[in-house]
Parts: sequence; C-alpha cells; structure tokens
Amino acid sequence: HDDSQKLSLFYESGIYYFDDSNAVFVDPVRVLNRSYHRFTVSPSTYYSRFFKSPTTPNSVSSTVSSSLRKRKRKPKEPPPLNERELIALQRHQEARPLLLAAHECLLKSTELLNVLKTLKSESRCSKKECEGGQQHSFVDLGRGSPQLEVTLSLRVSDADTHLPPNELEDSLSVQCCEQKVLPAFNNLVANDTKDDAVAEILDNCYIVPRESCFYMSDLGQIRNLIPAHADSGFNLIVVDPPWENASAHQKSRYATLPNREKLRSFVERELFPAWGVSYAATFYWLKVKQNGSWICDLDLFHHRPYECLILGYSPGKVNNTDNQSKFKPVKNDRVIMSIPGDFSRKPPIGDLLLEYVPGLKPSRCIELFAREIMAGWVAWGNEPLYFQDSKYFVKK
Ligand code: SAM
Repeated sequence: HDDSQKLSLFYESGIYYFDDSNAVFVDPVRVLNRSYHRFTVSPSTYYSRFFKSPTTPNSVSSTVSSSLRKRKRKPKEPPPLNERELIALQRHQEARPLLLAAHECLLKSTELLNVLKTLKSESRCSKKECEGGQQHSFVDLGRGSPQLEVTLSLRVSDADTHLPPNELEDSLSVQCCEQKVLPAFNNLVANDTKDDAVAEILDNCYIVPRESCFYMSDLGQIRNLIPAHADSGFNLIVVDPPWENASAHQKSRYATLPNREKLRSFVERELFPAWGVSYAATFYWLKVKQNGSWICDLDLFHHRPYECLILGYSPGKVNNTDNQSKFKPVKNDRVIMSIPGDFSRKPPIGDLLLEYVPGLKPSRCIELFAREIMAGWVAWGNEPLYFQDSKYFVKK
C-alpha cells in the first residue's frame, strides 16, 4: 500500500499498518465507532488527557514552583536492584529495541503524524444525545440498590436483516422502539438488534452497541456467565484485571516495577497453568502523545510509557477442523501505539486479536472487568457501562 492508501484505510478502520513492521498505530475513537450506527464516540471526551489546552499563566507558575521545590530535595542514591528488579530490567532491555523500532516507524510517517494532531478535534457531528446528570458509580449502586432496573430501548425491524446500511437508516427512522425493563445488576442485558440501543438507568442514558451484551455484577456472580455446555463457550477472552496498583503500595520503595514483575510471573507461572493456558506471545501497548513523542522517558525506572499484554492459548475442544485451520498463530512482539484516553482506558484491541482466534466463526468474545462494550462482544464487570455513558457520545 502507498501512503495515501494506508491513510484511507486508517480513516476507515482506525488502524494504521506500517510497512515491514509488526507495529500499528490505533485511533481508539475510530475503532470504537465501527460498533455504532446512530451515535459516534466523541473524540474530545475520549482524548482529554494528552490534548491539553495551552498552559495558562497560573499553571505555568505552579509548575515552576513545584519543580523548584523538587530541586531543593537532595538526590537520593538509588539502592541496588533486587532479583525481581533485575528480571524486570532484563525484560525491559528485551522490549526496548522493538519499542524504539515501532516508534521510529511512527516518527517517519509524516502523514500520520499530521493526522494525529487532529484526532481530538475532528468530528463530523455535534448533537449531544441526552445531557444526563452526574456519572453514576455502578460499584456503589450495585452494593446499595442491586434491584435497580434498566430500560432498554431497542429499534427492532425486519429490515435489520435485509437492507444495506444506507437504506437501513431510513427504514429504522420510521420504526418505533421496543422497550424492555430488566434488572440492571446480576443479569445478562442483551441488545440483539443490528442497531445501537439506548439503556436508561436512573436519569442517565447509556449507548449499547449492536449485537452486544453486558452483565454487571461483582466477581462473586461471575459463575453465572459460565456456559452450560463447553461448546457454547467463548473463543476469545480479554482480561484487564484490577491489579493492585502502585498507590496501594506507596510505602514500598519500588512500588510500580517489582509489582509489575510480580504480576507477570503470577500470570505466567500460576494463572496460566491453573487455567490450562499455554503462553503464546507478548504484545506491547506503547503510549504516545499527540505530537508522536513518548508519554514519558522509555527508561524511567518507576514509570514506563508502555504496558504488556500477555497472550495464551487454551487447548479447547474444537470439533470442526476446517474452521480450526483458518486462524493465524499469534505473532510475538506486536507493538500497538495509541494516544491514551482518560482514566487508564485501554485501546480496543479486540479486532486486532480476532485473526488469531481459533474455533467457529464468528468468534464468541468476552471482556472481563470491562468498562466499555464493543459490538459483538459480551462485557462483564462491576461497571461495564462506564464509558457507554451518553456523555461520551454524540448523535449523528
Ligand atoms: N480494561 C478496562 C478499561 O480499559 O477501561 C479497565 C479495567 S480496570 C483495570 C478494572 C475494572 O474491574 C474496574 O472497572 C473495576 O471497577 C472492576 N472491578 C474491580 N473489582 C471488581 C470485582 N470484585 N468485581 C467486578 N469488577 C471489579
């Protein structure tokens, strides 16, 4: 592909593929928007973190004074590294050349860099769906009002199955909604239509993508999601667990790094064997700023501009060998670059993983501890509607 083809592919899919590289650049807003029909994810609410408005005089002075305060402190001599820290450092040294090469690809792609600057502002639409009140804490609601109900407004139409998308829009606009009132917690809420649905809880609206489900509960209820039959299980499971974070360990000297290493060895040595999963590959999520630079120095000891995604295969019982042979074994060391969203929101990588998923197609996919929902997926967690709040969307 030449550069203009790659860019138009990026505009369509939200994924930019670099030549001869296992790196990609992802615009989460575009990727997510493939899940919606009448709504679009608002780029300005997605990207509020790394697209700061120019610094105001006040914040400049506070930055200066805080850096002066910092300078007064005596620099501490770093203590020698322990065994786990050494392993972490070695892992970092292995990842370094991959990350540098991926980043180099990004910096060389001037067209893409130009597009990056516009990712936040660019929007074809302006209408807000419903203003809604303050965002609910589903964790608190689940504890205090577990009987709460959700009103799901679905646009059902026979035309769903028969018409191409442009005609679908017209036909849907004359359809009336079907409303379902369902328990909001400890219940599988499904939008099985081919159109976006609107879910209302208390006074807030949430946009639910087509052909998706959410199950909002505490971990204690997760057994309810285990399918009755092994052959109706999931072929792709994405998990981003609430690991203990650095702030929970503020008192320990090297909070982030050893903690991270501890988790890594827990996943590889305990969790995967306990689940019967064999390690397959590691992907990296490299976080960059609007101008393409790293979000922080690559070699900072306590803080890294990247995160790891560990992939594994479970030897499932797939009967249909034809379908089984149609998947590509996962490539190691892929680097996914993106500008981070707010609240440590991860980029939507589901589609990037689908090509590596064995078993029947379409794959059945579930995200555990999800805070957002993708079309075709089941989202489970104690707040799967978090980023579905209508404040993150605009109506087309
Ligand atoms: N991948 C998500 C994203 O990018 O937005 C982030 C997931 S976050 C690391 C972990 C999620 O797990 C949070 O939404 C948190 O509320 C949820 N969680 C924590 N403890 C839980 C529990 N006991 N049961 C269900 N969900 C829980």
